[in-house]
Amino acid sequence: MHPSTPATCDVCRQLRDADEHIVLARGQGVLAFIGERVRVPNSVFIAPLQHCAGLHELEPGELIALSTMVRLAARAIEAEINPDGLNVWWAFRPLAGQTDAHLLVEVVPRFVNVHYEYTDLSNVPSSTHAQRRATKERLLRSVQTTIEEKNGEHFRVVHQ
Ligand SMILES: [Zn+2]
Repeated sequence: MHPSTPATCDVCRQLRDADEHIVLARGQGVLAFIGERVRVPNSVFIAPLQHCAGLHELEPGELIALSTMVRLAARAIEAEINPDGLNVWWAFRPLAGQTDAHLLVEVVPRFVNVHYEYTDLSNVPSSTHAQRRATKERLLRSVQTTIEEKNGEHFRVVHQ
């Protein structure tokens, strides 16, 4: 596992670089976005903005935002991709596959007869920004959202 500093953390880097073209939703200290390297196309990443390793370090509001975004990602994937199943992955510590000490939840569509094998994300080819943007646009096509402002920040709100 990489040293636990925001300067060397790849999740922190992706969060810093995430623009509105690849962000599905922002909540209280949490971002849902299309990751740079995904093991399965149309997966969604969800991570807290603060560099922290696990759920136990999140504030209650952040926990709610994170679980709300898992639901959003699952709903968008189900609506647009129509998978046979979904996985929600969260690796904690290196033995479980966590490569940076930064909580990263992955919502992953799964399909009958499509073999899946765990791979280190650093070995997965990276997507271009244009590919990630296209994935975001596809996933949000079927869910109704609005942009709302709160305390000067804009949030994408998904309607139930
Ligand atoms: Zn980090």
